[in-house]
Amino acid sequence: MNSALRPSRNGHPSIRVSFEFFPPKNAEMETSLWESIHRLAPLDPSFVSVTYGAGGTTRERTHATVARLVQETELKPAAHLTCVGASREEIDDVVRAYAQAGVRHIVALRGDPAEGPGSTFSAHPGGYETSTALVAGIKRLGDFDVTVSAYPEKHPESGSIDDDIDVLAAKVDAGATRAITQFFFENETYLRYLDRVRQRGINIPILPGIVPVQNFRQTANFAKRTGASVPRWLAERFEGLENDPATRRLIAAAVAAEQVLDLVDAGIEDFHFYTMNKADLVYAICHLLGLRAKPAPDSIAA
Ligand code: FAD
Repeated sequence: MNSALRPSRNGHPSIRVSFEFFPPKNAEMETSLWESIHRLAPLDPSFVSVTYGAGGTTRERTHATVARLVQETELKPAAHLTCVGASREEIDDVVRAYAQAGVRHIVALRGDPAEGPGSTFSAHPGGYETSTALVAGIKRLGDFDVTVSAYPEKHPESGSIDDDIDVLAAKVDAGATRAITQFFFENETYLRYLDRVRQRGINIPILPGIVPVQNFRQTANFAKRTGASVPRWLAERFEGLENDPATRRLIAAAVAAEQVLDLVDAGIEDFHFYTMNKADLVYAICHLLGLRAKPAPDSIAA
């Protein structure tokens, strides 16, 4: 493509970003989480989300992190919530507690059991049975902004992409207003999926979930369990770098930059980053996207 015609090379298109964090397990992780949040906050994300551990194991930690985001920052937090391991009443109480804490945005998921992705889900007796039921339950409790998941390569338990898109349509009918995709590395996969979603009459934003590859082996293992494919070219780019973290970081930045800039050239303007609670790589990619830190209010010259 002629560079004059490439939005990524031609001024700053209207890019919006959001960031995903996970709740910290200990004091050290808490410190690094908050360093990352403070570094990324000046980029003015549309929202920041905090995950809910597999099996519902992080209920208190997710709540504490989201509540602190409301109290101590100007950011708009979204709390992930799953159907796993709790009755409808218990989940409804969590939703009410979010409302009381000032949280108006929930990422509603079916969730995976405590053993993680790939293990068999069975609904809690008296619990929400599907993500669709959870979305409807949340909407019954208040005027929440509800985001759901989407799977460009289909969810591993789904029979086909069309079945998967039917599930997405049901979630939208239940009140979801935005979806975030599972991570992917082939942009064509996402763009083809987006076409099919639009053909199905689904018009909510479908934010591409971008995972900067901080550790190739870990990412590849996780991808296998979640049904995301890892192309050979990506493996080759990290080949031989197992003991060379400095070069790995540079390659990771180059790979992610290439992915997001190509998506910008394909007309995509919203990006959701799986930060893994590490800011540097995501910050650099956002800089490439044209985002600049907003000065803190007290540093603006009078
Ligand atoms: P679902 O909407 O449940 O769809 C998955 C499959 O379930 C469908 O393809 C279909 O086969 C079946 N299904 C669902 N609803 C119906 C229905 N109404 N009728 C028929 N079949 C149905 N997991 C966590 O534990 N905590 C998190 O914080 C978390 N955050 C995530 C964020 C994103 C952006 C993504 C993409 C995933 C996240 N996950 C999280 C993982 C997710 O919980 C798992 O992938 C889980 O296996 C599926 O839940 P879901 O809500 O993503 O998908």
